[in-house]
Amino acid sequence: MSSEVAAGTVAERFKGLYGAEPDGVWAAPGRVNLIGEHTDYNDGFVMPFALPHTAVAAVSRRDDGVLRLHSSDVEGGVVELDVDALEPESDRNWTAYPAGVVWALRAAGHEVTGADVHLTSTVPAGAGLSSSAALEVVIALALNDLYELGLKGWQLARLCQRAENVYVGAPVGIMDQTASACCTAGHALFLDTRDLSQRQIPFDLAAEGMRLLVVDTQVKHEHSTGEYGKRRAGCEKGAALLGVDALRDIPYAELDAALARLGDEEEIRRLVRHVVTEDERVERVVALLESGETRAIGPVLTEGHASLRDDFRISCPELDLVVDTALSAGALGARMTGGGFGGSAIVLADVADVDTITKAVEESFAAAGFTAPRVFEAVPSAGARRVR
Ligand code: ADP
Ligand code: MG
Repeated sequence: MSSEVAAGTVAERFKGLYGAEPDGVWAAPGRVNLIGEHTDYNDGFVMPFALPHTAVAAVSRRDDGVLRLHSSDVEGGVVELDVDALEPESDRNWTAYPAGVVWALRAAGHEVTGADVHLTSTVPAGAGLSSSAALEVVIALALNDLYELGLKGWQLARLCQRAENVYVGAPVGIMDQTASACCTAGHALFLDTRDLSQRQIPFDLAAEGMRLLVVDTQVKHEHSTGEYGKRRAGCEKGAALLGVDALRDIPYAELDAALARLGDEEEIRRLVRHVVTEDERVERVVALLESGETRAIGPVLTEGHASLRDDFRISCPELDLVVDTALSAGALGARMTGGGFGGSAIVLADVADVDTITKAVEESFAAAGFTAPRVFEAVPSAGARRVR
């Protein structure tokens, strides 16, 4: 379902719910991260691109302090909130994401006085494809337009991250929101998460006879708790032990010396090694893509997977099986993508090998007794936009 097709439907449903046409309809995509995993909270580099899958929201402005929220993908009716009463971590439901955006805008001094919202999303939730950021960014962009706030994509991304960190209570980095807000069709976004400087890198696989497959393992991750927080805390400890602001500040050429200085902190050493080598991998992928050597990024992606599996230790049997099976079946490269512990893997392949690889992965899951994976092709698509 493309966002354009959905726009009319979403506007119709809005009218059915609230009895009037919406002021407008906006779309914001989920994302796949090509390379640069768990680097965004270390001030490092990431390289996501936007999926064709989007959250689409019909929104009208209100000036009476009332926020009404409805998702056609969730049981239950319209949820009505008072914008003055929004409180961080007071809501454990899906409504915390859009309400958090309203809260973050208001906390930053923007006068947002309410809204009616109806939304739906084709981004699968909990699959590591950032359905949460799509949800936040679509609301932020709608309010930015309706309240004429004049905020740029990266500024909206920062506010959405704050909404998720403080209001929802999930310690996520800045990548997902920036990807959803700032990506452009046919490109991957090379983003420096320290200053949010960015460069659009042409990434048109079809022109070169290649495809990028996303394999959703259907294993649901849980981002806001547990392991993610532990890795993040470990990275912060590593930076503190090495006397830098963030692991981004350890140059690749000085990695061995830095690791030696960590003494018997074996676990921290592994985390540091992943982050520093991953930043270098992002730079290598950028250089390869910019010099037209697209095929050569395959092995770099695979190296990234090994680092996430062995050093960062956030893979799982299903993700490893996708990667191993795809490579055996002729893939150019493969890696888990997203936060880990489930979610999705990506596979770079020649067009001619796509069917063989897909079949091999599906058969390997059946043989292992895993839930059947969902495999689809990811075309680098547009970032957040108004669609009506
Ligand atoms: P991810 O961002 O990787 O998909 P998260 O756990 O960060 O996973 O976010 C998923 C949460 O976002 C869901 O549990 C739900 O609360 C919310 N969400 C995502 N899509 C929708 C939707 N279409 N309608 C309502 N809530 C949604
Ligand atoms: Mg998320």
